Amino acid sequence: MHGHQKQRVMSIDEAQQMVDLWIKTTGVRYFNELTNMTILTEEVGELARVMARKYGEQSFKAGEKDNISEELADILWVLLCLANQTDVNLTQALKDSFEKKTKRDKERHIQNAKLK
Ligand SMILES: [Mg+2]
Repeated sequence: MHGHQKQRVMSIDEAQQMVDLWIKTTGVRYFNELTNMTILTEEVGELARVMARKYGEQSFKAGEKDNISEELADILWVLLCLANQTDVNLTQALKDSFEKKTKRDKERHIQNAKLK
């Protein structure tokens, strides 16, 4: 984490609430779920384009910039929207995911010779 200003911690719950407030005021209303699903896919593609240029074998074209943080935030934004629209508490969902992965992959990665 870097930057000039001291960053205040934002919980996932706060992020969901802040996006909800922004959408209902500045954004008027949510795009519907399928529209946001499409936007999520589009934003993942935009991240892929930057990754291909920065870490892959493509090069940045004139005027293109390394904006990985912006694209990650775009993805997070629409993901938060989709969570709100589908009544998902992402804090709980992430905790559940940790539990699932820990149980399921308890031995898997340790035994993966390719990771050594
Ligand atoms: Mg974007």
